[in-house]
Amino acid sequence: MSTTSPKAVPFNRTHVADNELAYLSEAVRQGFTCGDGPFTERAGRLLCELTGAGRALLTTSCTHALEMSAILLDLRPGDEVLMPSFTFVSTANAYALRGAVPVFVDCRPDTLNIDERLIEAAITERTRAVVVVHYAGVGCEMDAIGAVTRRHGLALIEDNAHGLGGLYRGRPLGSFGLMATQSFHATKNVQCGEGGALLVNDAALAARAEIIREKGTDRSRFFRGQVDKYQWVDIGSSYLPSDVLAAMLTAQLESFDAIQRLRQAVWRNYHEGLADWAAENGVAQPAVPGDRAHPAHLYHLLLPDLRNRQAFIAHLAAHGVQAAFHYQPLHSSPAGPRHGRAAPGGCPVTENVADRLVRLPLYAGLGEAGAARVVDAVRGYEVR
Ligand SMILES: *Cc1c(COP(=O)(O)O)cnc(C)c1O
Repeated sequence: MSTTSPKAVPFNRTHVADNELAYLSEAVRQGFTCGDGPFTERAGRLLCELTGAGRALLTTSCTHALEMSAILLDLRPGDEVLMPSFTFVSTANAYALRGAVPVFVDCRPDTLNIDERLIEAAITERTRAVVVVHYAGVGCEMDAIGAVTRRHGLALIEDNAHGLGGLYRGRPLGSFGLMATQSFHATKNVQCGEGGALLVNDAALAARAEIIREKGTDRSRFFRGQVDKYQWVDIGSSYLPSDVLAAMLTAQLESFDAIQRLRQAVWRNYHEGLADWAAENGVAQPAVPGDRAHPAHLYHLLLPDLRNRQAFIAHLAAHGVQAAFHYQPLHSSPAGPRHGRAAPGGCPVTENVADRLVRLPLYAGLGEAGAARVVDAVRGYEVR
């Protein structure tokens, strides 16, 4: 290995926010390391400000927030939940764990979000909810989707793991659903290693959500002095993160604007620096409709086919750039047909884009020089 070759550009690197180490040490020193401490309160408030949510409950992960949403919907075995096939496994697992049946709807070829035109045809008398995922933080077609869920009396849930800070027609993602879920996993824009939140936009649900998060007890009410003892009052589990993780998250959320500026700069460098290369090579860049603002969660390209996608990832690796593919369709995954099914018409767009998609490195610390290195490496690839 040549000593002059610069270090490889990793796919992701976590950002250390300004007050992160100070808050971590404060959390440890204050002697309150379990959940629902002062930092949990602060992080929850910051999340409400950012998303306009009525209540934000920190959780141990987005996966757990999704599980809480399934409990809160009182889903029964055989109930159906519509969702995209092009998403992370947790979107489906959370509902399958309650015995509900994920029904996978195809995605739009442009934004890769659930195709709103296919939702109504997938509804049956067992359908209870629609879960949307704002892929790359580009909002789904929320006007059309809201109209369908209202018309059929279905609950709308947003898996907003990519979309913190994103806007649809000026309104924050995470504020459209009855509930929305966030992820603070190390790979997300704002992170505390492992963490998440359930945003609840309905006051009656918020009270029950608090109980489900606290092992089915009214412990939160007890600590507020609203009841004189706490007891088992509902089903629930342990979904409350340590205040130490909440301290990390508080610092990250306070640095949200700074983190976003850095990520947006990388995203724009890619988008502008690759425009002519993409056009010449038949490669599709991300599509962002004009009425949406995205939080630069990821930058993806669609190569013409699987062979070029694999050769492109190998080419980037050889040039010191770590790129990655993304979701494998859920409807055709080994567990897909066991727990769910594709909506009528199948998911041909999902199958097609899943084979062609590549994500480039995108993190706050990448900087202009790092982004330029990635752009150079990408431009050295010729589609064949
Ligand atoms: C990351 C992610 C999740 C899971 O988040 P965790 O916090 O790791 O549980 C769920 N859904 C989507 C769309 C994600 O991107």
